[in-house]
Amino acid sequence: MTDVIIVGGGPVGLLLACELKLGGADPLVLEAATGEERRTRSLGLRSLNARTVQSLALRGLVEPVAEAQWAMLGEFAGDREPAEADVVALMVELLQEGLIKGHFSGLPLLDERGKAEYLMLKQHKLETVLAERAAAMGVRIRQGCAVVDVVQDESAAVATLADGRVERAAYLVGCDGGRSVVRKRSGFAFDGTPPTMTGRTAVAELASPDAVSSALRGPGGLVNRSLVPGEVATIEFDGGPDDRDAPMTAEELAGSLRRVTGQDVVVKRLEAGIRYSDNTRHAETYRKGRVLLAGDAAHVHSPIGGQGLNLGLQDAVNLGWKLALVVRGLAPDSLLDTYTAERHPVAARVLRNTRAQVALMRPGPQVDALREVLGEVLELPDAKRHFGGMVEGADVDYAPGAPHPQVGRFAPRLEATAHDGARPLAELLRDGRGLVLDLSGTSGPDDGLCGAVAGHRDRVRVAHAAEPAATGDAGVLLVRPDGYVAWAGGRDGIGDALTTWFGPPR
Ligand SMILES: Cc1cc2nc3c(=O)[nH]c(=O)nc-3n(C[C@H](O)[C@H](O)[C@H](O)COP(=O)(O)OP(=O)(O)OC[C@H]3O[C@@H](n4cnc5c(N)ncnc54)[C@H](O)[C@@H]3O)c2cc1C
Repeated sequence: MTDVIIVGGGPVGLLLACELKLGGADPLVLEAATGEERRTRSLGLRSLNARTVQSLALRGLVEPVAEAQWAMLGEFAGDREPAEADVVALMVELLQEGLIKGHFSGLPLLDERGKAEYLMLKQHKLETVLAERAAAMGVRIRQGCAVVDVVQDESAAVATLADGRVERAAYLVGCDGGRSVVRKRSGFAFDGTPPTMTGRTAVAELASPDAVSSALRGPGGLVNRSLVPGEVATIEFDGGPDDRDAPMTAEELAGSLRRVTGQDVVVKRLEAGIRYSDNTRHAETYRKGRVLLAGDAAHVHSPIGGQGLNLGLQDAVNLGWKLALVVRGLAPDSLLDTYTAERHPVAARVLRNTRAQVALMRPGPQVDALREVLGEVLELPDAKRHFGGMVEGADVDYAPGAPHPQVGRFAPRLEATAHDGARPLAELLRDGRGLVLDLSGTSGPDDGLCGAVAGHRDRVRVAHAAEPAATGDAGVLLVRPDGYVAWAGGRDGIGDALTTWFGPPR
């Protein structure tokens, strides 16, 4: 029997598959669409925030994603009129200098130190990188396989495909997007607030492109010329689209542009178009027995602020190593309950901040004034830190109130030495095992520590920090495969901590 069926081979499903494989499990990805279908639906750009970039760095995935980003931006500059090429050049410069952290409802959040970790690319380009990694690792991916039903019993989760075939696995994860069949068929409650707006993004040829400025807030909504050649986007506060799936027409786009800009804009040709809304909903739990949810299947919200993909990729790295340990029989399945406990509050916060960002996008003089006031607030150092931490995902804390401030937080940037030399901590986590990190500043971990870890050597490695680290009074940190600190303390407690997070010793 397969270890884990992943329904949906979007970015979240693909990254989860890689994480499971790295952890020693055997995942099977069932994806309804073909690669070409996904490519044509991939309009707009996706920003990857600092925490996502740091997570990708743990697996050596930043370089290929950054390469795809630069190649894409190079293509964009080539396809542009000179005036528009300047906009692309400015964006390239900001990215190269590490100045972009993200934005809050269009209000830019910049990193004056030039240290921002931020990537921006089309979603299908990210998916290509992840699919190549998954294929290189030997993950089984079946395209054109729509799942129509999911049931579970005591021994398995069972997916029924559209052609009637059935696949069984020990666990099944729904990464099948906002309209998840897995979520619906498995009875997960999904409450929230209905749409108030319609967003349209289209690739179109306009008779007078200059009539549409690069970013405009008008009485009827917003319009934006994207960095992607030929792409134009509008937002209207009209209660949401009647039918998200009906093909968009040139007339529909022209009507939206007219309402938003107040001008007649002739759309000569419409190549592709998508609609979205601010429908905001959250699964009550991310796990029901053998069925779990990740990514948009678990939470939907407006894309304003660019956080949904980041949230989903972080779900994948949180769940992957835990589920791999459980299916391999190394850890009890109660470890999986920490997935909802840790990720649900993070998503709830994103849902809140994206609702606030939508409110700040509404037209009208009151909101204009509110935006100006917030713009002033964002100049204050503490506010910059607060909003920056929020959009960068850097303020995530999986164990608020833990006795040690490092616990629940992403591990500090350290050089550490394992048996094969000193390396950044991120590289030491590359093989998907956890890390017991000796911070004592001695020349190497002592025999006592090595002895305490001996029964978990298949799941963690031991390293010592090359320099004394600013980690409070802890002598030892236990870092999980996703880069978060599970435990901090003296040497005596490490055995129990290892059993809690990685299962009993062998
Ligand atoms: C215009 C726009 C701009 C955005 N910008 C950003 C941004 O800048 N930053 C950011 O973080 N997020 C952004 N987002 C959000 C981001 O695109 C989503 O959060 C992300 O796509 C979620 O990934 P996913 O893998 O969970 O779901 P999806 O990308 O929806 O993938 C789900 C996959 O499951 C497959 N599937 C569905 N049903 C089935 C089935 N029954 N059987 C088998 N397969 C199935 C689908 O074909 C699809 O391939 C934006 C969204 C939009 C619309």
